[in-house]
Amino acid sequence: MRRELIAGNWKMYKTQKETKAFFDNNLALFSQNDKDVVFFVPFTDLNQAVQSVEKSNIEIGAQNVHFENEGAYTGEISCEMLKETGAKYVLIGHSERRKYFGETDQMVNKKLKAVLNAGLCPIICVGEQLSARQSGEYLEVIKNQVFNAVEGVALDERTAIAYEPVWAIGTGKNASSMQAEEVCSFVRGLISEISKEASEKIRILYGGSVNPNNIKDIMKMKNIDGVLVGGASLKPDFVKIVQYDKQ
Ligand code: PEP
Repeated sequence: MRRELIAGNWKMYKTQKETKAFFDNNLALFSQNDKDVVFFVPFTDLNQAVQSVEKSNIEIGAQNVHFENEGAYTGEISCEMLKETGAKYVLIGHSERRKYFGETDQMVNKKLKAVLNAGLCPIICVGEQLSARQSGEYLEVIKNQVFNAVEGVALDERTAIAYEPVWAIGTGKNASSMQAEEVCSFVRGLISEISKEASEKIRILYGGSVNPNNIKDIMKMKNIDGVLVGGASLKPDFVKIVQYDKQ
């Protein structure tokens, strides 16, 4: 059985003060669950967030990392630096990083290796543009992204893959539960071509305009083990997504 994983991506929102206030006001509610719940916060909020959730079952993650241990890479952060903050998870290859910061499949692959070597838990993001969805080439796009990302990597249960169609991120237009299941099941099939054992262990998430109204349908799907939530994770109402099974 794969444990459900509900993750919130705060993107470039919330200062340290706002982070402290969010957890001071809502931590008790968020802690009442039997799932893995992770907040991906901006780098500058990591220390505060880790301190805020210290006595709870909530984990904190970073939204990006550099693949080198150290060096002349101005503005970048290494796995060791992240570990020292107490962060346990790292997002890799989010579509906003691919689109605005030139992140390639090859960089995603290097980051995945660095994150696993450091003992952190990666969530690899993949997803097609609207044009690939409309032309029917989306499975080909996903296949390339997944195989490039995991090339030469011995996957274990720490790794999760989030299917996030770009046309559904921040648009309010989520993929239907059937569309999400089709791709998540396809991704599991791709992983099983590399390792049957890994394909049964790794968690596959859906992300893209998840909200308290559509979460139940999404989580009913056989190959969807959780969700990655952007906008809706910034508000206390995120707890309705985390506790979707109690509503
Ligand atoms: C995201 O940032 O990964 C995301 C899925 O955003 P949203 O939920 O706002 O679509």
